[in-house]
Amino acid sequence: MGTFTFEQARDCVLKKVSEVRPTPGVEEVALLEAAGRMLAEPLRADRDYPPFSRSARDGFAIRAADIPGQLQVIGEVRAGQAFTGQVNPGEAVEIMTGAPLPPGADSVVMVEHATRTGDRVQIDRTLTPGENVSPKGSEARQDEVLLSPGRRLGFADVALLATVGCSRVTVFRKPQVAILATGDEIVDVSQQPLEYQIRNSNTQSLAVQVMRAGGCPNILPVARDNYASTRELVENGLRSDLLLLSGGVSAGKYDIVERVLADLGAEFFFDRVLIQPGQPLVFGKAQGKFFFGLPGNPASTMVTFEIFARAGVELLAGQTDSLLPLLWTRLTREFRQKTGLTRFLPAIVSNDGAEVTPMTWQGSGDVPAIARANAFLVTTPDRETWAAGDWIQALIK
Ligand code: AMP
Ligand code: MG
Repeated sequence: MGTFTFEQARDCVLKKVSEVRPTPGVEEVALLEAAGRMLAEPLRADRDYPPFSRSARDGFAIRAADIPGQLQVIGEVRAGQAFTGQVNPGEAVEIMTGAPLPPGADSVVMVEHATRTGDRVQIDRTLTPGENVSPKGSEARQDEVLLSPGRRLGFADVALLATVGCSRVTVFRKPQVAILATGDEIVDVSQQPLEYQIRNSNTQSLAVQVMRAGGCPNILPVARDNYASTRELVENGLRSDLLLLSGGVSAGKYDIVERVLADLGAEFFFDRVLIQPGQPLVFGKAQGKFFFGLPGNPASTMVTFEIFARAGVELLAGQTDSLLPLLWTRLTREFRQKTGLTRFLPAIVSNDGAEVTPMTWQGSGDVPAIARANAFLVTTPDRETWAAGDWIQALIK
């Protein structure tokens, strides 16, 4: 079966999921609930934007041809009002930011550049016609498509929805993502583990990552490391839109996830990726559903979700494309690795994003280190050493 490089594996996930992605069902939600959801219908401008030629400054609405010179102030217009008269040659109207430009005027001179004495105003500079004015329809035309379906709605999109008067928004339904942790040593968070047992943290991190990606987590009971338990729960998980497994995909005697999936008729696209952490990652399709067999070490589970499974969830959620938030930054110290793998190592990126410091950690089980990190340093597989100050990429957490 297939061993892929990081890029090959990511391309494979994007390609396979995009290929068959069914259009999700839709639902209507209130404006604020639409944040983080995927828009399901094109959003159109209900009128021109700006709806009127709008002053961008506090100052005087004038005719550019009249200045420099002294003008007669014939009135005032504030935001939320319209000036009823007309600006004729030699005249000016005092205007506030956001107010409509009075008929006859073509520009706004800033209040800082005007000297007013009674009902006269002296302006000593020139303006190009249109200066400090946002013309009607210059931002968008009535009926123009402002956002397309598949757009994940952020704060600016919510502002745009509000601007055009959408208090209810049609979004795609969230895909159901089954989360199935495996392992005889795993106990529930609320349980007191024996010395050789560990609490189930993967289900929790995955649930948070799924929600962040726009999916709805469907948490299954932990599968024990035997065929019957694993098979029953995998069959259950394949009823969701996507199945995420953690653990049981390494080469150990009790790693039976792949066998169970194969018996359920799975097609495996790859079962090893040249990355660290997370090398034994499995991706495939069974009974019409995609699944990811994520390695059980917590760092592996978190990293492989971020770099592969997140794209799967986002595409199934109706998002048009899925991006990795990679940043080019510079190492604060020298860094070495053995060649052959693309590594995703816990790191701290400075507040300004300019620098990255790799953390010392104890390997893929080191949850405290991953929690302290704000990014993962991303290495290229063919390079052995980096000096302090060298450029390198980081994946923001
Ligand atoms: P596995 O991939 O099943 O070989 O597990 C690799 C390591 O990850 C082992 O040390 C497991 O105990 C640990 N592990 C597996 N599943 C979980 C989980 N759900 N939560 C926390 N650690 C886990
Ligand atoms: Mg295990």
